[in-house]
Amino acid sequence: MNEQATPQPGDQSDETRVDFVRQKVENDNASGKFDQRVVTRFPPEPNGFLHIGHAKSICLNFGIAEEYGGVCHLRMDDTDPTKEDVDFVEAIQQDIKWLGFRWHGEVRYASDYFEQLYDWAVQLIQGGKAYVDSQTIDEIRQNRGTSKEPGVESPFRDRSIEENLELFAKMRAGEFADGEHVLRAKIDMATPHLIMRDPIMYRIRHAHHYRQGDDWCLYPMYDFTHGQSDSIEGVTHSICTLEFENNRRLYDWYIEQLGIYAPEQTEFARLNLTHTVMSKRRLLQMVTDGMVTGWDDPRMPTIRGLRRRGYTPEAIRAFCERIGVTKFDGVTEIALLDHCLREDLNRTSPRRMAVLRPLKVVIENFPEGEVEELDAVNNPEDESAGTRSVPFSRELYIERDDFMMDPPKKFYRLAPGREVRFRYAFFVTCHDVVTDDAGEVIELRCTYDPETRGGSAPDGRKVKSTIHWVSAEHAVSAEVRLYDHLFREPDPSVIAGDDDWTQHLNPNALETLPECFLERSLGDAIAGDRFQFERLGYFCVDQDSAQEALVFNRTVTMRDQWAKLQKK
Ligand code: ATP
Ligand code: MG
Repeated sequence: MNEQATPQPGDQSDETRVDFVRQKVENDNASGKFDQRVVTRFPPEPNGFLHIGHAKSICLNFGIAEEYGGVCHLRMDDTDPTKEDVDFVEAIQQDIKWLGFRWHGEVRYASDYFEQLYDWAVQLIQGGKAYVDSQTIDEIRQNRGTSKEPGVESPFRDRSIEENLELFAKMRAGEFADGEHVLRAKIDMATPHLIMRDPIMYRIRHAHHYRQGDDWCLYPMYDFTHGQSDSIEGVTHSICTLEFENNRRLYDWYIEQLGIYAPEQTEFARLNLTHTVMSKRRLLQMVTDGMVTGWDDPRMPTIRGLRRRGYTPEAIRAFCERIGVTKFDGVTEIALLDHCLREDLNRTSPRRMAVLRPLKVVIENFPEGEVEELDAVNNPEDESAGTRSVPFSRELYIERDDFMMDPPKKFYRLAPGREVRFRYAFFVTCHDVVTDDAGEVIELRCTYDPETRGGSAPDGRKVKSTIHWVSAEHAVSAEVRLYDHLFREPDPSVIAGDDDWTQHLNPNALETLPECFLERSLGDAIAGDRFQFERLGYFCVDQDSAQEALVFNRTVTMRDQWAKLQKK
C-alpha cells in the first residue's frame, strides 16, 4: 500500500510552507495573471451524497478562496440526466453548510449552460472542428485504436459543414433515436493521446433531466461541459483530482478553439482512506442492496453518515488540513481522521458515566432508600464546564468486564475480596458473588467505606483502579450502537478492484447493545448531543432517539490507534 498521502513523523510542518496549489495561487497573484482575482469552485455531480473525499476538495476550494480574499462557487455538474436528482442537489448544499462553508452567489448548474454549449458546438462545426458521426458507439470505440495503434478515421469525418449543421439541428429537434448519431470533435485519430482522438461532444438521449425537464434530447459530454463552465464563471483556479490530468489537454483545446477565457487547471491526489470505499457507485450499491440502512448510516464515509455518527465539522476540517494536498495517489489511515476527531471531542465533550454491559452491584452497608449526591467534573479540559451532581445509592451497575471472578495478574479492577475506587464516589470492596443456575455472575455483594467520599482514604491506603458506575434507581436506559470499520480489509484498492468486494464488508461493523444504563443527567439529551462516556469513548445521540427510548452512537473509542502507529 502506498502511504505517501499520510503525513509521516518528521514531516515538515504544514504551517511553515504552503502546498503546491496555494503556491500556484500565490505565484499567479504575484505575476498578476488573473488581476489578483481568486475564483475557485466545487463542482459535484448531483448523483449521490457527499463523502469525506469530497470534504477534502471542499476544504481546498473554499479554503483557498477564503485565504486569498477570493470566492468559491458551488456548481452542480449535472450533464447526465439518468442519474441525477434534486434531492441530491439539496443534500449537497446542506452538507457543505454543515462543514462550515458558504458559496458565492446562487448555486450554479452546468445544465443552465446547455444553450451556450450548444451554440459553441455549432461554432466548432462552422469552423470545421466538429462533425456528426453516424457510426455506432461500438464502432467508434473499436476504431479509436489503442495506446500502441492509431485510430481509424470515421467514414463520416468529411461530411460538409452544411450537412453537419443540418444533422446537428435535427439531433436537437428530436428527429433521431438514441445512439443514431453523435457529435465529435475533429482533432486527430493518430495522436498518442487517446483522449484527443476525435472525442464525442454530444450524444442523443431521450431522457428527462431533473432540472431541464424535457427541453433536451441531446446532452453534452462532461468533457465538453466542464472547462467551458469554468470559463463562463470566470474561474481562475480550477482544482480537480489527478484522473483529470489527461483531460486538461482536451479542455484546453475546446477553450482555445472557441477563443474564450481560460481558467488554469491544477490536479491534486484524491483522498483514499483505509477500511472504506469512496466510490459513489459502491456506496449507492450498499444502500440499494441493504448492506447499510441508508446514505446516512453511521458506518458510511458520507458526510451524513459521519455527522450522524457524531463527527464534528471542526474535526473533519482539521483532518483535511492535516493531510494537506499532494500530487501522489496514496492511502490515508482512517486512524488519523479519528485522531483529529478525538482531539476536538476531548476539548468540547462533557464527561458522563454510562454502563454498556451492566452487572448489578448491591452496597450492603448503604441504607436502603437513601441517596448521596456527589460532585462530578464535567470536563477536565474546560474548567468553565463546571460540575454536576451524580446520585449514589444502594444498588448500582458497573461494567461486566470490570469484574473478574478469577483475575489474572495484571487485572486490577474488581474481583472477590478486592477494593477499588468508584469514580467520584467511594472505595468499594466486593465480598460475595451471586451466580445463576448456569454459573454466570449476576450480582456482586459489596460494601463501601463512607470515609472515602470523593475518592481518597483518610488512612492513606491506596487502590489500584477506578471504575465507573451508575445508580440503578436513577439510571436512564438506552440503546447504544457500537461501530467498527465498514470493511475488514485496510486497502481500499483491494475492495474496489474485487468483483466480489462485498465479501470484505465487516459483519461486526455494527453492534447494538439494547440495555445500557446512563447516569441521570443524560435523561434530557437530544439528537446530536455529544458526550464522552468515561473510559468508553465519545458518544452522540442518534436521530432515532426519543424521550422514552434514547439511542446513542459511539462516535469513536478512547484508544488512539494513530498515536500508536506513530510510535511504531
Ligand atoms: P464518482 O467518480 O464516484 O462518481 P466523483 O468523485 O467524480 O464521483 P463528483 O461529484 O464529480 O464525484 O466530485 C465533485 C468534486 O469532488 C470533484 O471535483 C472531485 O474531484 C472531488 N472529489 C471527489 N472524490 C474525491 C476524493 N476522494 N478526494 C478528493 N476530492 C474528491
Ligand atoms: Mg466526477
